[in-house]
Amino acid sequence: MKLSRWFLDSKTGRDSVEGAAITVDPGFKGKCIVLIMVTMFFSGFIYWLNGANGAARASARAYACYANMRVLLGAVEMYNMDYGNIIRTFSDADASKDGYLVKSQYLKSPISHPEPSCLYSSTGDISTTTGRIICSTHGSVMDE
Ligand SMILES: [Zn+2]
Repeated sequence: MKLSRWFLDSKTGRDSVEGAAITVDPGFKGKCIVLIMVTMFFSGFIYWLNGANGAARASARAYACYANMRVLLGAVEMYNMDYGNIIRTFSDADASKDGYLVKSQYLKSPISHPEPSCLYSSTGDISTTTGRIICSTHGSVMDE
């Protein structure tokens, strides 16, 4: 009933409450443009926020990796203290479930890899202070 009344009003040009609610006002086009701009701004903002979040997650993984390298070096240092500096190089397998660090319990559990691409090894002689544990993805703790 209401629709037919609006239709009748628009034909006759008579103004009614229902008719006024439906008529397109002159500023409509401008409002549309503003709405589109606001939508674009917010989608851009959300896209930017996502990127920032991704970067934060990546740096959190990097910090987890640096923490791992410190744990690994600490475990090797303790092993060396107990066995007379016999470990001079490190490979990722040493901290795996079957690695000597886990089997001898210098590491409580196999080391995690914050990124799938993290692979631990060493540079220099790790029985001395010049040796370092390095990650194939994140470098060494010194590079922070
Ligand atoms: Zn890493």
